[in-house]
Amino acid sequence: MLKKKSKYIVAIVGATGAVGREMVSILEERKFPVSELVLLASDRSEGERIEFDGKNRSVKKLVNDSFHGVDIALFSAGSEQSLKYAPLAVAAGAVVIDNSSAFRMDDKVPLVVPEINAHALDKHTGIVANPSSSTIGLLMALKPIHEAVKVKRVVVTTFQSVSGTGKDAIDELAGQTVALLNFKDIEVKVYPHQIAFNCLPHIDGFLENGYTKEEMNMANETRKVMEDDTIRLTCTTVRVPVFRCHAESVNIETEKELSANEARAILAKMPGVLVYDDPSRSIYPLHLDVSGKDEIYVGRVRADDTVKNGLNIWIVIDNIRKGAALNAVQIAERLLP
Ligand code: NAP
Repeated sequence: MLKKKSKYIVAIVGATGAVGREMVSILEERKFPVSELVLLASDRSEGERIEFDGKNRSVKKLVNDSFHGVDIALFSAGSEQSLKYAPLAVAAGAVVIDNSSAFRMDDKVPLVVPEINAHALDKHTGIVANPSSSTIGLLMALKPIHEAVKVKRVVVTTFQSVSGTGKDAIDELAGQTVALLNFKDIEVKVYPHQIAFNCLPHIDGFLENGYTKEEMNMANETRKVMEDDTIRLTCTTVRVPVFRCHAESVNIETEKELSANEARAILAKMPGVLVYDDPSRSIYPLHLDVSGKDEIYVGRVRADDTVKNGLNIWIVIDNIRKGAALNAVQIAERLLP
């Protein structure tokens, strides 16, 4: 539990990564009460300088006793680091907010999107988990619809940007694009295939049931955050050659009827959701427009007449902001006494 203080010592584990760097700027933008910012990464980045609050701060190597005196530790350095160091941070007295998938389905760890289930924070025992970025995008739109007419079944196809994989994937897309446009050979390192000018229906490892871990995570995390095991969700996750934001085509079957206009009105009232939906003027959420935004954008809201109570929607979320860094900082804000 956090003790009441005027300012807190905050650590960012993975501070040099795509999410970690965004955390630094979001803490500053939202004027989070930071007395000291501890920037941690691997030995590859030791000594690198990152600006926060007008001062250049040095990145330190993550070690077992990095958390001495730390009040809040924001983890975004992958599951392996979270599994090893999050318990050490908790033992040192910190509250951990983890972006990896390490603890998401752990019964003792609340999985939180503050606009949806902030009450789950009351039960934390030191670690709180962020859902995956595409799950956060989906649930921000699904929650108000579920409350109004009860969601029975959801079919999702995602269009996920390379920043979802991290900084090496951003470099790979840029590098391959430049190489191909200059008629040069490309390097394929991060993904199993070329990502430039290509789409890969493959995010994270495949499981025995033919789904990927990312796809099963979305189904499992949805039920945990929504606190409803009856919601059926099936999903195909696709990596697309876009730098930032994830889009999701979502088909929803509900228990009671909801017209497209009623759905738009309900979505518009949800904090953190922006309805952006006027196809007659070519207005619908685009990866490029949502990049850098805090809200998730929803458009193409329309009835699915092939089932009794069906809706189709199109969602775009900035995966680095609300999909990761912003959600983590919002959790930290809610934890302040
Ligand atoms: P990234 O750009 O590859 O950054 C990874 C960060 O982890 C870097 O700061 C890296 O430090 C650090 N790191 C790696 N190995 C380490 C080690 N052995 N010891 C200490 N630090 C180490 O990845 P990212 O996209 O920011 O993602 C980070 C985490 O957030 C992952 O768990 C990911 O699943 C999760 N997440 C990401 C997104 C997203 O959209 N990107 C969304 C939700 C959740 P160096 O610079 O020293 O290598």
